[in-house]
Amino acid sequence: MNKLNLAYCNECEDLVEFSIQDEVVNETYKGVRIRYEFPVARCKCCNSEVAASVDYNYEKSEARISAYKKSQGIIGLDEITEIMEKYNVGKEPLALVAGFGSVTIKRYFEGAIPATEYSDRLKELLDNEDSFEKLFELNCDKLNDVSIKKIKQRLVEIDQIKASKINQIANYIIIKMEEVTPLALEKLMAFSNGVNYALNGNRLIGEECQAWQHGYVYPSIYVKYKKYGYKPIDNGINSTHGAMLSLVSEDEIKAIDMVISTFGLYSPKTLEMISHRQEPWIEQRVGCKDTDPCNKSIDEESVKEYYIKNRLDSEENISKYISRVLGEIRSQRAFRF
Ligand SMILES: [Zn+2]
Repeated sequence: MNKLNLAYCNECEDLVEFSIQDEVVNETYKGVRIRYEFPVARCKCCNSEVAASVDYNYEKSEARISAYKKSQGIIGLDEITEIMEKYNVGKEPLALVAGFGSVTIKRYFEGAIPATEYSDRLKELLDNEDSFEKLFELNCDKLNDVSIKKIKQRLVEIDQIKASKINQIANYIIIKMEEVTPLALEKLMAFSNGVNYALNGNRLIGEECQAWQHGYVYPSIYVKYKKYGYKPIDNGINSTHGAMLSLVSEDEIKAIDMVISTFGLYSPKTLEMISHRQEPWIEQRVGCKDTDPCNKSIDEESVKEYYIKNRLDSEENISKYISRVLGEIRSQRAFRF
């Protein structure tokens, strides 16, 4: 039996059935006209808005405040969260680094709206690692040892990312994928490099890629993440601002996003099998048995030719390509048994 989902309608003065649809809400809030999208619930009898769940009004007021902040150029909670993730810092230590009262950030998460000056300072911290470091040095005597140690370590990691495009790309894929093993990461990086030839015409990753037994490998990335083995990498820095992607262009990010939303749907082993069907890998393995180690360089010209020839320049084309390759793998296996 279906349990009916009911809500109380003030107009009908009764429990009623309702439907939910995304609407653009136009309102005045604190004297400002704002617009935002919200899944609005309406009574099926009279079309009045009803609270579809206990959290409905709370969620709507969050959407309202967030739209107001955006209209005023005030930093949003998502961006404040990103600052905390970027510098590995909690609400209170962040408030202290920024030179605010210790509970200021906590209050923002409870609904208080940052004053423009405070908002601007937080935005500066999100975009500019040097500003963060400067304020951290100025205010670190107010922090406890654990926070200081965590922040210092993170600033070292950010420094490494600042100077290295390959590390920026690896970090971006790690945070976008949410769960990615070292094996899958290597494949997604090599596929991104290939798709970037088809989409933008140039090389994405300057480092040498090698034709290892399990497919493409960038040795520096292998060394950096090998301790994770077959487990997902969990040390991504969840931020895309400032130095995090400073060496990657928007067009290049499009190529990487395309790879994440296509190849990224498959298991590490499947990605390895796909890489084993690609000419740039196969041609470096001539004379090797399946299990032989090999560190020959992948020929970038051959990658470029392969990805352009297979037209791997849109999500649609890539998805078709993956289906085709997986079909070939299946039929080959059926033949073997
Ligand atoms: Zn009604």
